[in-house]
Amino acid sequence: MRSITRKSLLYRSGVEYADFCINHVEGCAHGCRFPCYAMMMKKRTGVIKDYKDWIRPKIVSNALELLEREIPKYKNKIRYVHLCFSTDPFMYKYPEVADLTLKIIERLNKDNIRCTVLTKGIHPKKLTDIGKYGQNNEYGITLISLSKSFKRRLEPYSAPYGERIRALKHLHDKGLKTWVSIEPYPTPNLQKQNIWEVLNSVSFVDKIVFGKLNYNVKSNYGDNKEFYQKQADRVIDFCQRKGIEYHIKNGTEEKYNKKTEKIFRAALLPIYQE
Ligand code: SF4
Repeated sequence: MRSITRKSLLYRSGVEYADFCINHVEGCAHGCRFPCYAMMMKKRTGVIKDYKDWIRPKIVSNALELLEREIPKYKNKIRYVHLCFSTDPFMYKYPEVADLTLKIIERLNKDNIRCTVLTKGIHPKKLTDIGKYGQNNEYGITLISLSKSFKRRLEPYSAPYGERIRALKHLHDKGLKTWVSIEPYPTPNLQKQNIWEVLNSVSFVDKIVFGKLNYNVKSNYGDNKEFYQKQADRVIDFCQRKGIEYHIKNGTEEKYNKKTEKIFRAALLPIYQE
């Protein structure tokens, strides 16, 4: 795997659920074709050349040294550290990435700093070692469909949906807090599917985040607003019945505002200023 070094690692993200963030890999082998917003920004700023470059990730080889230096500086200001906004912490079939992610979580937890983790890969079973990783982290997967052909088209190199769900369920069964990000949820012209099936497949989680397809993607779907309003209502209904915490991203319900995009830009910006 290729590697790079960086000058800093921990940065303020500006999002409400995780005030700090770590991206310890440059690029992402999952190669999502929504397209990936992080990839577009990296291309625009000249950090990567193209899609091929993006899907050949580079690990940040000095990540642990940076963390050692930065923890004392930020320790008292952090509520949660999110892994990751611009790469995937448990990149599928990249054990080097998973190993580094585990070391980062362990190091943060040692100082009682909690982590929120989001992946389209597989959460390792090792995370259930409470002595090492603590019990206060929140482990999530992205799950926007259950269709294999949709995955092949739009998330070609990520982990199979069933494997993602099983690994998350294992953490849940061991008493850890789990969540699902159903974002960006596809419009019917991209994938005809029943949102209840997606919701039922993850009915064990503690929290569901739901959001629409965003960021320059022309979905060419006429009833966009009405469609997302209906799906958001279903998510809320499902969560209320099951006692699951939920968060509908700004702009997903019909009363659209620009706040989500601004927040997301704020979350990604620091990594383009390195
Ligand atoms: S998993 Fe996330 S970071 Fe990786 S390509 Fe897909 S959207 Fe981008």
